[in-house]
Amino acid sequence: MTTIKPMRLLLVEDEPAISNFIREGLEEEGFAVDVANNGKTGLQMANDGLQHYDLILLDWMLPGMSGIEICREIRKTTTQLPIIFLTAKDTVDDAVFALETGANDYIRKPFSFDEMLARVRVLLRNQRGEQTLFQHGSIEMNLDKHQVTKNGLPIELTQKEFALLEYLLRNKGKVCRRTRILEKIWDTHFDRSSAVIDVYINFLRNKLDDPTSTDSFIKTIRGIGYRIEDKA
Ligand code: CA
Repeated sequence: MTTIKPMRLLLVEDEPAISNFIREGLEEEGFAVDVANNGKTGLQMANDGLQHYDLILLDWMLPGMSGIEICREIRKTTTQLPIIFLTAKDTVDDAVFALETGANDYIRKPFSFDEMLARVRVLLRNQRGEQTLFQHGSIEMNLDKHQVTKNGLPIELTQKEFALLEYLLRNKGKVCRRTRILEKIWDTHFDRSSAVIDVYINFLRNKLDDPTSTDSFIKTIRGIGYRIEDKA
């Protein structure tokens, strides 16, 4: 497997229970996370250039210096660094205020880890200018909305089905090898002959193939893998 430098996030949060919960979750997802437990340290870490951060998660109410002040200070030097506020404040005015200060997004406490992770990923993808919209015939996949539609109607996919479809669409026109699919979507301890891929390919076909056609939108390349054709 190729080693990719992990995305590094700075989390500024003074409640240890919350910061541990977020840090552990993000580390499991492959991010590197540094934590500052007060405002002044947070600003220092963001500005001193010792680490390059790809995104900052910023609590609003912090000892020493508020999240709003930190955000303003950071925005004096860069507009590029994505900032997400985490806060118990929940009025519309507060949200508008946070965004006007230069934050990119705003998450209300309590929040689910999955919701936070989804927002982090959206911002990081936007930052990298990555493609977030894929289309094949009547099938459309929108990563920002985490949504798949067929003929404009939403199709429910499990996490694994979603990840598999995303991988195939990103590589549209190319053969996706079974070994690569296993590495990408499943833990590598699966045997390469594992039937799990075929099972999930069939799930996708059942949900997304055109019922009037005998052809599937996912082609089987016998013994090698799968491909979504470039056309359509
Ligand atoms: Ca706080």
